[in-house]
Amino acid sequence: MEEIVKLLDENLEYVKHEVSGDRITIWEKSAKKEVICPYCGKPSKKVHSRYERSFQDLPIQGKKTTIVVIRRKMFCENKECKKKTLAEPLDFVEPKFKRTKRLELEKQKIRTLNRWFLKTKSWFLLKKKRQNLS
Ligand SMILES: [Zn+2]
Repeated sequence: MEEIVKLLDENLEYVKHEVSGDRITIWEKSAKKEVICPYCGKPSKKVHSRYERSFQDLPIQGKKTTIVVIRRKMFCENKECKKKTLAEPLDFVEPKFKRTKRLELEKQKIRTLNRWFLKTKSWFLLKKKRQNLS
């Protein structure tokens, strides 16, 4: 499980996992000691609070996989910075997305394949229709 977590983001640490029915839930947290403030670029070690965010990830052994990240909210230690707090950035997911980037990529591939399949299918149907007409 540890390796799967590292494949997603090498800065993540495995916490625990739970299997129930056709679903796997993996909890992870950041292994980074400090977080760089995206507004001023200064590192911060002061934790404001922790909260959980969950994402859909690629299935493991055919089971639906949910990643729960114990995400930290930090104080920006730079007094000149306009932002007082900042959320720990997550590299494996686009902001506001509920699915990991690698799952999005898989979904995209399937959509492209489906589109190609439909196009090919309609081309064949059209060809058949023309053949029948002549
Ligand atoms: Zn800052």
